[in-house]
Amino acid sequence: MVIKPKVRGFICTTAHPVGAAREVQRQADYARRLLFADGKPRAALVVGSSMGYGLSTRIAAAFGAGAGTVGVFLEKPASEKRTATAGWYNSAAFHRAAADAGLYASSIDGDAFSDEIKQQTVETIRRDLGQVDLVVYSLAAPRRTFADGTVAKSVLKPIGATYRNKTIDVESGAVSEVSIEPAEEAEIADTVKVMGGEDWEAWIDALEAGGALAPDVRTLAYSYIGPELTYAVYRKGTIGRAKDHLEATAKRLDERLRASGGRAFVSVNKGLVTQSSSAIPVVPLYISLLFRVMKDKGLHEGTIEQMGRLLTDRLYAGGEVPTDEGGRIRLDDLEMRDDVQTEVERRWREVASDNVEQLSDLAGYRHDFLQLFGFEVDGVDYAADVDPNVPLIPA
Ligand code: NAD
Repeated sequence: MVIKPKVRGFICTTAHPVGAAREVQRQADYARRLLFADGKPRAALVVGSSMGYGLSTRIAAAFGAGAGTVGVFLEKPASEKRTATAGWYNSAAFHRAAADAGLYASSIDGDAFSDEIKQQTVETIRRDLGQVDLVVYSLAAPRRTFADGTVAKSVLKPIGATYRNKTIDVESGAVSEVSIEPAEEAEIADTVKVMGGEDWEAWIDALEAGGALAPDVRTLAYSYIGPELTYAVYRKGTIGRAKDHLEATAKRLDERLRASGGRAFVSVNKGLVTQSSSAIPVVPLYISLLFRVMKDKGLHEGTIEQMGRLLTDRLYAGGEVPTDEGGRIRLDDLEMRDDVQTEVERRWREVASDNVEQLSDLAGYRHDFLQLFGFEVDGVDYAADVDPNVPLIPA
């Protein structure tokens, strides 16, 4: 079939296997050039490894450090009516590239919140790798189903007061004001259950109990802070509460793992176009402005550049891992530079529907969004017939 993008709101319901594979190859080529100063991961588990930051972490660990990897994600293969999800094609491409490079890789497609998937992962690690010395928790999930069948949903809302600010309809380019009502207490608690640190800790518990955790393991989860203008809906909103919980979990895990030579960190990453970030009101407009400013200054990075820096300049740079006063690894250092933020703020005050194309990199945002699904990738013939049925593991 000939596969075209079908965008519905914050999601593209089709994905292109050839484009996805080329993008994975591009990231793998980037990762091959990474230089490690002091040690490197040998065997890595990445929870949420099929898209965004998790995918790039897996690629950096595998093709940069030569690590065997186990990836966990929730994706769907193609059916009669639909293409597979982008994360499925990404993971299939990852497996092909890993096999070509002689690198161990296995993937587990299922609900990471469940005990069953945790157990399956522990058994896979024990059987094939013995133990993992890098565990990355990069889940971005809209909901969590508990063992008793109850469901908690994560919401993106302010806390305490209604929030009004500019937002953009990425498809039409219309800039308007959005008004978001504050969350109820139950919604805050549910968002923390989904996106906080509880499940990360449950993963560490399961890996440790199953003997799959190397004594000197390094474990990471990802966070975001961002500028003041998104505080109400992000850092001081429901998702920010979850990130506070994640950061508190990192401290607790760090104390616990240090006893055997291990470490736990939260890494604060740059705001980028991913499936998750495009669903947050206000954030896509901020990211479009940020991209314009960072590209003009030659500071722009994507997920693979960020994850490359995370591994080579932070986690395995030799000596103490550099962190801020809160113990967090900061990869948002370039995004948060004063000159960058001052320029973004200036443009934020001016931006409207009639000047958004000039002031921001909306074109770049749209391009990155489509690329998440394998579209607008250089060198791909999108008029060609392709088979949407791609096996996750090559025969
Ligand atoms: P993403 O949407 O690109 O990827 C999410 C991953 O989680 C996918 O692999 C998906 O399959 C997996 N997943 C979702 N629900 C699952 C489930 N129930 N079981 C198994 N797998 C499941 O996400 P992202 O934007 O890369 O975010 C990853 C982390 O990075 C999040 O903690 C996010 O807050 C953080 N972060 C993101 C940004 C950003 O701008 N995107 C910035 C800083 C930090």
